[in-house]
Amino acid sequence: MHQFRFECQPGCTACCETEGEVRLTSEDIRRASAFLGIPSEVFVSTYTTGAGTLSGLRCPFLGPNGCAIHPAKPTQCRLYPFWPEIVETRQAWHRTVRTCPGIGKGPLIQIADAVAIAAGMKEAFPDSYVQEPAPSPSRKRRMRNPASF
Ligand code: SF4
Ligand code: SF4
Repeated sequence: MHQFRFECQPGCTACCETEGEVRLTSEDIRRASAFLGIPSEVFVSTYTTGAGTLSGLRCPFLGPNGCAIHPAKPTQCRLYPFWPEIVETRQAWHRTVRTCPGIGKGPLIQIADAVAIAAGMKEAFPDSYVQEPAPSPSRKRRMRNPASF
């Protein structure tokens, strides 16, 4: 499989409801603060842990009508499900298919394009995507070629 369909589904907030961190780049903070009309320092003290993630187990911007900062949502939210740990790993991709109803709907997307989009996560969070050493034969079962999804 070299391509798949994806279109984020109106009204869906499944990925926002998943327990986990929402990491923020300095640009994410700048854009969200500007969108809310508050200084970045206020945004950081009000909505973040102070360590580069939104505070709370539940995202503080998830409301009954979805994301309250949708036009300025953080990089990791904007790029989901095109994250390296998802598009580069067969098992993770199939797990995500079960939880993201947008996969399988909408326009066709080439796998290579999904990987290119996922590179945005590596640019935003380089510390989280440290280059792995060359794999030993026993580690090659981890799929590195998304074209074989
Ligand atoms: S789970 Fe998928 S369809 Fe739902 S909001 Fe997230 S990306 Fe969109
Ligand atoms: S910031 Fe918005 S898109 Fe991101 S998890 Fe929170 S509600 Fe969802």
